[in-house]
Amino acid sequence: MQCTEPRNAIEALPSLPPIIHPLTNELIGRHPALIAELIHGLGPALHLVLPEVFDDTVKQFQKVLASAGVDGFILFAKKANKARCFVERCPALGIGVDAASLQEAGQALGCGVPGQHIGVTGPAKHDDLLLLALRQHCLVAIDSLDELRRFAALAARTGGRGRLLLRRQALPTAGPAASRFGMTAAECEEALRLCIAQRQHMTLEGFSFHLSGYSAAARAVHADRMIDACIDAQRRGLKHCLSINIGGGIAVRYAEQAAWDAFMQRQQASHYHAAKSFPDFYPYHPASHGPAMLAEILAAAPGAAGMCLAQRLRQHGIRLLLEPGRALLDQAGFSAFLVQGLKDRAASDGYGIVTVGGTSFSLSEQWFNSEYLPDPMLLDAGEADGGYAACVGGASCLDSDMLSWRKVRFVRRPRAGDVLLYLNTAGYQMDSNESPFHDLPLPPKVVVSMEQGPPRWRLDTRPGAVATA
Ligand SMILES: *Cc1c(COP(=O)(O)O)cnc(C)c1O
Repeated sequence: MQCTEPRNAIEALPSLPPIIHPLTNELIGRHPALIAELIHGLGPALHLVLPEVFDDTVKQFQKVLASAGVDGFILFAKKANKARCFVERCPALGIGVDAASLQEAGQALGCGVPGQHIGVTGPAKHDDLLLLALRQHCLVAIDSLDELRRFAALAARTGGRGRLLLRRQALPTAGPAASRFGMTAAECEEALRLCIAQRQHMTLEGFSFHLSGYSAAARAVHADRMIDACIDAQRRGLKHCLSINIGGGIAVRYAEQAAWDAFMQRQQASHYHAAKSFPDFYPYHPASHGPAMLAEILAAAPGAAGMCLAQRLRQHGIRLLLEPGRALLDQAGFSAFLVQGLKDRAASDGYGIVTVGGTSFSLSEQWFNSEYLPDPMLLDAGEADGGYAACVGGASCLDSDMLSWRKVRFVRRPRAGDVLLYLNTAGYQMDSNESPFHDLPLPPKVVVSMEQGPPRWRLDTRPGAVATA
């Protein structure tokens, strides 16, 4: 085994500096004592959420729709973060919510989102959820013929009228279908006939899809086909078939291009604790992202006629629905963990092991057999001491409980009592697979507002609170 100087080993490690939002920068740069106090009182792990950033992002998406002249409506895919504060903003912002459970739909209703502005997605939905959707006039994305028949029967039984979209299966790029969601062309044809036959109980309002991956072009191709499907359904008498829903998957930029490219070129298994290697990472600098990616989808002309998607939507009077989750939460929060200790193996191994309060379940990338890569940083690090390489482990007894398998380059040696920050974690990283393993408390969410100048904070959960906007 090659013996390397620890000093050299640190310098050989790649880093991936995260893009820092000005509001976050102000909080961690000018108010570190507030964050330290919150960790002291509410920690050892917590998430700070910034609904003002969410507001700004929503408005940017709305601006893209308006400047393309498209009749569009945004449904926030709230599965990306359980915080109530984001849903509370939706009614005033004029957006709806994409819900996939009775609980998510209930939270949206409780925050004042009107039922007609709630989209209900997910596989084979429980009758209770379908019933709630019927009673509250939510728009249900039907995933199978079986579900459509149940929805029709419930509508007939209750005397309600079901509003629905038919979810189409994603076109396979090659080989067999990669997704369990959506209906094939043949199933959709049968569903359409059922909608025609049951039109006194159900209104088919359009078609939907949701793709994995982050391709603007693939979304434009699918959307173009959904427009054709709407035109066909209208021809067959379903006059209200006037919407297409392009789902979510609008990508987010976490790091600058040069930093991401350099990182990917350099990273290798020896840069990770236990020489761990990952099959895949999120594209932390995707080619297109955020509102610009929506603009790109609308400007694409995938059809034979050479007409761009925005033109086609306008020409046929079709409304565009979209369900971004991660993209609306870009920069809308970060996570803070108390450092509980350091196992200093710099001399023997070239890196140490930081243990933080909380677990990797609060940094959910491992759900995807991957790792959240943007560099964590020490709050209020003070004097740099030449640097220190360390991986970051959680407080559980599992070897696999690592927040960062990667050997991170810290500006100085971390010590017990430090606060470690992971930035831009609001989209999926905070709570998608959190767990009270070991009876450890789930990290609270602290809503921070700087609307009135100095930061104010409150806990996210306000039982019984009504929406104010
Ligand atoms: C998860 C999901 C979304 C949100 O996806 P993002 O990648 O967070 O934008 C939207 N629609 C459906 C149907 C989903 O399952």
